[in-house]
Amino acid sequence: MSKRDYYDILGVSKNASADELKKAYRKLAIKYHPDKNPGDKEAEENFKEAAEAYDVLSNEEKRRRYDQFGHAGMGGAGGYSGGGFSMDDIFSQFGDVFGDDSIFGSFFGGGGGGRGRNRRTVGTNIRIKLKLTLEEMRTGVEKKVKYRRMVVAKDVKFNSCKHCNGSGVVKQVTNTFLGQMATQSACPVCQGLGQVIESKPKEANEHGLIPEEFETTLKIPGGVADGMQLSIQGKGNDGPAGGAAGDLIVLVEEVAHEELKRDNNNVIYTLWLSVPEAVLGAQIEVPTLDGKAKIKVEPGTQNGKVLRLKGKGFPDLNGYGTGDQLVVVNVFIPTKVSSEEKEILLKLQESKNFKPDEKDKSFFDRVRDFF
Ligand SMILES: [Zn+2]
Repeated sequence: MSKRDYYDILGVSKNASADELKKAYRKLAIKYHPDKNPGDKEAEENFKEAAEAYDVLSNEEKRRRYDQFGHAGMGGAGGYSGGGFSMDDIFSQFGDVFGDDSIFGSFFGGGGGGRGRNRRTVGTNIRIKLKLTLEEMRTGVEKKVKYRRMVVAKDVKFNSCKHCNGSGVVKQVTNTFLGQMATQSACPVCQGLGQVIESKPKEANEHGLIPEEFETTLKIPGGVADGMQLSIQGKGNDGPAGGAAGDLIVLVEEVAHEELKRDNNNVIYTLWLSVPEAVLGAQIEVPTLDGKAKIKVEPGTQNGKVLRLKGKGFPDLNGYGTGDQLVVVNVFIPTKVSSEEKEILLKLQESKNFKPDEKDKSFFDRVRDFF
């Protein structure tokens, strides 16, 4: 797992667009490709590093986490799980970056053990949104979801493609910027599937697929956050010609809480105190994601003070402990007073205890700096 800054690796700015990223990566991939640098370990490392950087920055969610947490945010679920980027991972990116019909598609298709071709038979992904409350995100939850997916119709009959003898590829010699080379490309008859449909029911599409209402139960781990994507393998659309199904991509959406706000793994609650409560102290009940909690407000509590309810926040997805609930004190200053109250306040105005000295002021600045 690279420790260098991903933006530096690709040589792009922090706000590079998807297009700029792709261009930068394409350049590096061509420059450092192992076939052009045989036996050059350094080129291979650079090649892998660029692939890893592109993998992270080209994914909205991963990029957001990387921007926020750096390399530390890249482990575990939804992130880049370390331990090195395999050549397989890298080649599987190329379909997206270079397109299957580009020189890279055919160039790497051969070396990759037909990987590029086999990928064609994988079904497409399905994206769904899943609304979760903060409580559900904290504890994790099982959710039943219903969606429509494409499945192979019951009475579809496939036959091996005669044009390519079922291999899905046809070989040809082409002139490229690297000289003349033998390349493989997808069979134009079966589109690389190796199989053609002999017969299918009327309602099935050209790949023999029909839509089906599908229901499954998702296990959402505690600690997920708004904007995260969970991908569930094999729950997407079936592949054409009996190929493997794609993935179900679940986009997590937060349902706003009436009283609590999320800040990374912490929960923020604003506690309003009256002036007498702040001066004299009080026992107060506050909402948490885990029911009500009693907190003790000490006499002389300052506006802006932050009280901490340990462990009432969200578990870290990567196992780095659990967040807290932060209770931020706001002392309410009345906007209108009766003549009686005014009289009391005028008396208090003269009192030494109601005038902040230097020590009090420095404390006040300190608690305010917390936010
Ligand atoms: Zn064919």
